[in-house]
Amino acid sequence: MRHLYLHVPFCQRRCSYCDFAIAVRRRVPARDYVDALRRELELLGAAELGRPGAESLETLYLGGGTPSLLPAEAVTTLLAAVREACGGPGRGRDGGPWDGIELTLEANPEDVTPERAAAWRRAGVNRVSLGAQSFDDRVLKWMHRSHDAARIGDAVRTLGRAGLGNVSLDLIFALPAELERDWGRDVAAALALAPAHVSLYGLTVEERTPLARWIARGRTAAPDDARYAEEYLAAHAWLAAAAYEFYEVSNAARPGWRARHNAAYWSGRPYLGLGPAAHSFDGRARRWNVAAWEAYRRALAAGRRPIAAEEVLTPAQRELERRYLALRTNRGLALGTDGRLAARAARWVAAGWARCPDARVRLTPEGWLRLDALVGDLTDPGDRT
Ligand code: SF4
Repeated sequence: MRHLYLHVPFCQRRCSYCDFAIAVRRRVPARDYVDALRRELELLGAAELGRPGAESLETLYLGGGTPSLLPAEAVTTLLAAVREACGGPGRGRDGGPWDGIELTLEANPEDVTPERAAAWRRAGVNRVSLGAQSFDDRVLKWMHRSHDAARIGDAVRTLGRAGLGNVSLDLIFALPAELERDWGRDVAAALALAPAHVSLYGLTVEERTPLARWIARGRTAAPDDARYAEEYLAAHAWLAAAAYEFYEVSNAARPGWRARHNAAYWSGRPYLGLGPAAHSFDGRARRWNVAAWEAYRRALAAGRRPIAAEEVLTPAQRELERRYLALRTNRGLALGTDGRLAARAARWVAAGWARCPDARVRLTPEGWLRLDALVGDLTDPGDRT
């Protein structure tokens, strides 16, 4: 297994828009969590881990939730357990234990301290995905984030001093109009920190979130499509002018700094996910763990694997997924000999939604805005084109 994801479910509070599988805890049960993860690793055994040797692992991603809430010792213990389970080698050339691996940790700015950053680096972390979201304190408060704008810059500088210069910043766009958020100012503030990578997420309204309740009560306006499109396209232009390349619908990087872990998902490669709600894919079937932290912990304490369900993809589902994932990226989708796809691609090119400079169809930013509809267009059974 070359791509491993560990889900750390804990957050100190729920952000106003978030429906992720999290456990809100004032005090993170770090020891219980590390013990549970260890048990899950043991139950997987060699059959699924493949005992490849940690040098065969290409990417490891600690996501959440908020992995940076774990005490630094817990991160160290957790990564050591993974390395041991993978039959890992000793220290690598770069002085870390995971030579050559992209090892990402998601962090919230308020958790980044010189001590933690140094400990993460020693444990092998070499990339940090920072949940910035906005540089406007009013907006951050509305989002229920725990940091203010100043903490974002402090965190990036602290990470850099600890040897963690490979930082990705997450930003959210298409916020309700009444917030009067200055999107251009936020993107400029992010670029001023010279991150290696930027991820942009349009605000969506998920059920059972504070945001959904505010909208239902008329306290806030629903996000609108025109604002979404305008801000998405503007961000493309600004980032391109700053030499960032959008290599996926939501992700842009400076040359040489693409996220290898996420790229594995988009190219359909197998991955293994551990922790509550984590998903795994072996190239044929997708499996996911129970979402609730307590249910996950109890299953492992009883010696059971915490699997909630598994879905075997049909050949048609796999093909649809392959096309969807390919169109998400700037590699695009090979036209091959599919006349129907070629006809669609010609129509998309005429509309300005795609380019076909070679035998591949690549969506433009305007096309990415319509990604789901265009993939649906490919499978429309009523169309005989
Ligand atoms: S920190 Fe991230 S995972 Fe936690 S509530 Fe906020 S958006 Fe959700």
